[in-house]
Amino acid sequence: MLDIEKYRNGVVKRAQDLIKIPSITGDEKTIARFVFDELRSNGVDDTSIDEMGNVLGIIHGTGKGPNIMFTGHLDVVPAGNLDEWKGYEPFGGDIDKHGYIHGRGASDLKGGMSVILEIMKLLAEAADNGISLSGDVIFSAVVHEEAAEMLGMEYLCNETLPKREVKFDVVYLYEATDLDVFIGHRGKVELVVNTKGKMVHSSTPWEGINALEKMLPVMDTIFGSMSRNCKVHPMLGKGSITITNILCKPGTLSIVPDECEISIDRRYVPGENLSDIINDFKKAFTIISSHDPDFNASIRPRTLREKSYTGVVKEVQKHHPPWITDLDNRYVQQTLSALKKAGQRPKIGFWKGGTDGSMTGAVMGIPTIGYSGMEEKYAHTYDDKVDIKKLMLSLEGYLFLIGELFGVEPKRILQK
Ligand SMILES: [Zn+2]
Repeated sequence: MLDIEKYRNGVVKRAQDLIKIPSITGDEKTIARFVFDELRSNGVDDTSIDEMGNVLGIIHGTGKGPNIMFTGHLDVVPAGNLDEWKGYEPFGGDIDKHGYIHGRGASDLKGGMSVILEIMKLLAEAADNGISLSGDVIFSAVVHEEAAEMLGMEYLCNETLPKREVKFDVVYLYEATDLDVFIGHRGKVELVVNTKGKMVHSSTPWEGINALEKMLPVMDTIFGSMSRNCKVHPMLGKGSITITNILCKPGTLSIVPDECEISIDRRYVPGENLSDIINDFKKAFTIISSHDPDFNASIRPRTLREKSYTGVVKEVQKHHPPWITDLDNRYVQQTLSALKKAGQRPKIGFWKGGTDGSMTGAVMGIPTIGYSGMEEKYAHTYDDKVDIKKLMLSLEGYLFLIGELFGVEPKRILQK
């Protein structure tokens, strides 16, 4: 195996530094600057920050390919209730006696980002020592991932990379996989149903139409037939549907509401698509209207106008389409074989939640693969932490992966 012990301090210190910068979605300026400086000072000369605030660093190969992109995100979810952080500051980056680094984002995905930045440093040094790879190694870290709308990732893939003529053959997502190889996840869309009524004084409800009452058959359909009929995928499992919020307008005392809105979390699998899902609702509305002439409802995916820390405003949908990379794909097979050479026993797996892999895997159709030493079970929890031992194993795993993809002895990359 490789002598990687000497890189431990660098990986740990950088992971701590990343955790110490609170980079809640929309507030990624400081961390973007930190990551930019880290790449530049480690010899990745072609480093930039785009208009949306995403960081991009490229080590150019000799042009024969393959070109690979490591991608992740700069943002984290909020710390939540500070009293729940037992013994650790959410932005402290403290290390416990078992060798875990604690703090918000440790497992999603700052631990992994530190490892990838170490890889970029080692590859830049190797290039200086005359070891050029046949393809480009692209590092990217985008804004606004946790908001599940791909604001940063869409901009990177639709604007920044085409403008720069950067092309890539495979994407490695450094999201949590616990040293396994993840190749997809279910899709997620947030839907909004509105029902309309007629506002009257609530002392005479019979004179109006209560929009909340009109929502009841919709809710019945969602919890009943729609929930039962979600499709099952042989590998990704079952789709799901549930209601996460309900709102009445005007929602004040003594008024029968003339508007009701529910938010729906719909998870779906390859083989289903957004327009079929919307059509299922429209069919249900037609059936309900046939019994109730006062029923008036509409459905749409939730769209929001979002603003990045750089001031760019864009309309985005709360939608992550599902994706799965073929198990037989050559990059999946090469990844598994490289990790076995590194002495690891990776299993194939899938994320429970969504990732920006929806952009590269589903929208662009580029083979997308996840691998890292972080664990999904700690992500977005008060016990957010990462095992240093697993981070170091992932560093070794990535070195073997690069060796496999570019036909280089992993040992040579580390030669001084
Ligand atoms: Zn993440």
